[in-house]
Amino acid sequence: MSHRVFNFSAGPATLPEPVLRQAQAELLDWRGMGASVAEISHRSTPFIDIAAQAEADLRQLLAIPDDYAVLFLQGGATQQQALIPLNFAAPGQAADYLVTGHWGQTAIRQAQPYVDARIVASGQAGGFRDVPPRAGWQLSPDAAYLHVTANETIHGVELRERIRADVPVVADFSSSIASEPIDIRDYDVIYAGAQKNLGPSGITVLIARRELLARTGQPRADIFNYASHAARDSMLNTPPTFNWYLLGLCLRWMLDEGGVEAFGARNAARAARLYAAIDGSGGFYRNEVKPAVRSRMNVPFFLHDVALDAEFLRQAGERDLMGLKGHKVVGGMRASLYNALPDAAVDALISFMRDFQQRHG
Ligand code: PMP
Repeated sequence: MSHRVFNFSAGPATLPEPVLRQAQAELLDWRGMGASVAEISHRSTPFIDIAAQAEADLRQLLAIPDDYAVLFLQGGATQQQALIPLNFAAPGQAADYLVTGHWGQTAIRQAQPYVDARIVASGQAGGFRDVPPRAGWQLSPDAAYLHVTANETIHGVELRERIRADVPVVADFSSSIASEPIDIRDYDVIYAGAQKNLGPSGITVLIARRELLARTGQPRADIFNYASHAARDSMLNTPPTFNWYLLGLCLRWMLDEGGVEAFGARNAARAARLYAAIDGSGGFYRNEVKPAVRSRMNVPFFLHDVALDAEFLRQAGERDLMGLKGHKVVGGMRASLYNALPDAAVDALISFMRDFQQRHG
């Protein structure tokens, strides 16, 4: 038996154990081919089948309508943050950005060379503990799009209300895609690096209303053109084939587990349990995000005394609780509760937190 810890890493993150086992079993000889998936041409029928199945499964999992294209891309979510203005905005056009944490800021930084990136509202002055109230948003009627971050992986802030705007809404769903049912039609473009809820790093999903792909955008190479990728089924060049295959196994696993309805219920319940444990600790642990916008996927929390941080992590490690160190931007701790994390991991964390408080409180 392999030794497996409870892995709370923010991404690359824990993968479903049945997926790893299947990949392991198939590694040397995929379906009698005598070769690994990693060793065959992306133009071969077996691989084209894997890719087509992954798209069909993602469409089923997220109920993606036919008038939305699905792309499997490289370069991570960050690269999409630069490609989005290149594809959807004219040179010098305005684009609106709602900033609810670190990744909203990154999106602006990547877009700035290509658009007049305007901050609609930012939670920065309040330490990103809340989503700025809708009434104060400065939306530009001439914006190419409005960019939002569905879930801020570092600050633990999640948009819990539907975003309505007169311009197309582009949403970074990297850390909350497939975590609960959503209506794809509430968005015009959704993108997500796979390495949190969908699979391994190295592959990124982009879902876009097809009519938006017809926008002229800005002068750019074919390889930066979403419409070209769509026209070639995301095989404009050699795709990350093994990552695509692993992502496909994860999608199958999620469908088998009951799909986004099942994960939505599970994720809400266990995040609530962890937040209740933090809030009920009498200040020993704290999370300062406004409850209405607390992330279900990434729970940042702080110990009342930073001098205890190292000891907390050490003892957590002894109990096989891994990946709890907070991002350096905010410090403290962070527990990421993605779909593939078992419920038992959350229970073990809560129980450890109680014990640790008893010993050090
Ligand atoms: N957006 C969000 C919300 C993220 O969590 C991350 C990665 N943690 C990124 C963007 C950047 O993703 P990548 O490293 O795939 O470029």
